[in-house]
Amino acid sequence: METRKTAIFTDLDGTLIDFNDYSSELARPYVQRLIELGYLVVFCSSKTFQEQRVLQEELGIEMPCIVENGSAIIAPPGFWDESITPVRIVNGWQRVELGKPAAEIRQRLARVESKFGESLLGFSRMMTEDVASITGLDIGSARRAQEREYSETLSAKLPQDVWESLDSAFEYEGLKCLPGGRFHTVIDSSADKGAAIRKFAELWKAQSSETLVSFGLGDSENDQELLENVDWPHLVKRPNGSWAGIDGRRIERVNGVGPRGWVKVAKQLLGETPAKV
Ligand SMILES: [Mg+2]
Repeated sequence: METRKTAIFTDLDGTLIDFNDYSSELARPYVQRLIELGYLVVFCSSKTFQEQRVLQEELGIEMPCIVENGSAIIAPPGFWDESITPVRIVNGWQRVELGKPAAEIRQRLARVESKFGESLLGFSRMMTEDVASITGLDIGSARRAQEREYSETLSAKLPQDVWESLDSAFEYEGLKCLPGGRFHTVIDSSADKGAAIRKFAELWKAQSSETLVSFGLGDSENDQELLENVDWPHLVKRPNGSWAGIDGRRIERVNGVGPRGWVKVAKQLLGETPAKV
């Protein structure tokens, strides 16, 4: 008999957690119920492992997660069968890495900045207090946001066409620059949320007889690859009540802002509401 495992790949900021106050309160009971019922709830965001772990601890869960826009899949001890999947162990957790170390990203970024002629205001080179004040994060969270292992967050405020004019310089350095909800993120050009999800599915298939069924939830352009690489993609509304302009015929546009939309999809999975959200 074929058995199935459902994995929910979810963005965080503006999707599972509130865009403005970063609260996870609305989704919390649903995340816990889904996990109790055997679902995998896999965070997939631009956030670092440290940030994602803090959120997991807040929710009382221990799950694999995809960090820094697809740069690595990091799973709890024993999640992957190490006789099948090569992993790097850091503090007991299993890492499958798709991106490159931050030091290398920052070196390449410096070359882009010198061509451009000004700093793009990377978080790692800012005072923690300044990161806290522009993000609204407390000092501890701001420090974690600075400690990126595979990417760099840029806080420069530039017109869209200026960002676009930098694309070829990033590309030349083997980097890509992704617009997020508030900031831009620079990562190795080989890493993306979609590639990480495909890798996750491939690793799963290699070690399990259960068929992986994937749900995806996101809120912004930065989630395009996430949504393209799951069986059931869902787009929640942004704080202004609109949906991000993402193409994709199969995408279900959920009538709810951020976590409110997330909860609607969770209720559907839990059978609390009819299939149409
Ligand atoms: Mg988001």
